[in-house]
Amino acid sequence: MRVLVTFACTDCKERNYTSTKNKRKHPERMEFRKYCPRCNGHTLHRETK
Ligand SMILES: [Zn+2]
Repeated sequence: MRVLVTFACTDCKERNYTSTKNKRKHPERMEFRKYCPRCNGHTLHRETK
């Protein structure tokens, strides 16, 4: 039930992180505050396809 997901910066749309998630636990799109090298700081990263 674990799927590979990509997390992209919501500011510059750069895809900075990949991870797996439990789809049963998190059926919705997940969001994290992570470091973005392009924005040079912490920004909100959203799950993308
Ligand atoms: Zn960014």
